[in-house]
Amino acid sequence: MRAWVGLMLGVAAMLPALRSHAQPRACDEFYARLPNVSWALCQAADLQPSEGRSVKGRILYVRDVQPRNAAARLRVLVVGGIHGDELSSASVALHWIRLAQGSPEPVHWRFIPALNPDGLFERPARRVNANGVDLNRNFPTPNWEREAPHYWEVRTRKDPRRWPGRAPLSEPETRFLHAQMIAFQPDLIVSIHAPYGVLDFDGPAEPPRRLGRLYLDQVGVFPGSLGNYGGVHRGMPVVTIELPSAQLTPRNAEIQRMWSDLRQWMGVTWASAMADTPQTPLQR
Ligand SMILES: [Zn+2]
Repeated sequence: MRAWVGLMLGVAAMLPALRSHAQPRACDEFYARLPNVSWALCQAADLQPSEGRSVKGRILYVRDVQPRNAAARLRVLVVGGIHGDELSSASVALHWIRLAQGSPEPVHWRFIPALNPDGLFERPARRVNANGVDLNRNFPTPNWEREAPHYWEVRTRKDPRRWPGRAPLSEPETRFLHAQMIAFQPDLIVSIHAPYGVLDFDGPAEPPRRLGRLYLDQVGVFPGSLGNYGGVHRGMPVVTIELPSAQLTPRNAEIQRMWSDLRQWMGVTWASAMADTPQTPLQR
């Protein structure tokens, strides 16, 4: 009995060590790779390993931020690094985790800062995943089997950076995000990209006109894209942010401004859900 209790205590004592073991690994990698991410910022993001793995077996990290004193009324999924060579997108997601921790609205934020870690940590970084698939063309939009390969062959002239894959959801990274969409049921998805310096929007809501210095410019829909699948076909509004540079983040004041504008727009779009917050909401 005593040995059994001792064993249990030993296992219990190991649990925090196991948990904290994952964190330095995440920050070791992200800190070394991402622009404008300090060690302290990455540590504060407190990324948690999910069940999801990339093609090469890398952990897909997530972080949930929920209101402290009230029930969440909105669920927002923020995804960076869908394209591995858009390093700034993962950095901005980490900055926003810090800002979310100080935001008063009743929002449950779920962040996935780097959906394509194999592309992100490749030298040089690659847009596609380790199977050569453009993850943002691999979502199961209607008629994918006909439209996605046709679009790739004819419109992109078989650009290897834009191969949609063999089948919709053929990749573990897209299957992971798809499972998150079903389980988490986000009211809004924010998908961060670079380097076109604009804002795009798909789905059933009035789009944000601007976020910081980025202005709305709806560029169209692509077979298999997250905006097309989530926004058009699942009725989950998708804000697609195209940062102006893939290598450099906007300045910190601009990252904060984009964050404030996003919440301001959410407050207009989901006014009743965002009302009655514990403090005066949506202050700049
Ligand atoms: Zn992109």
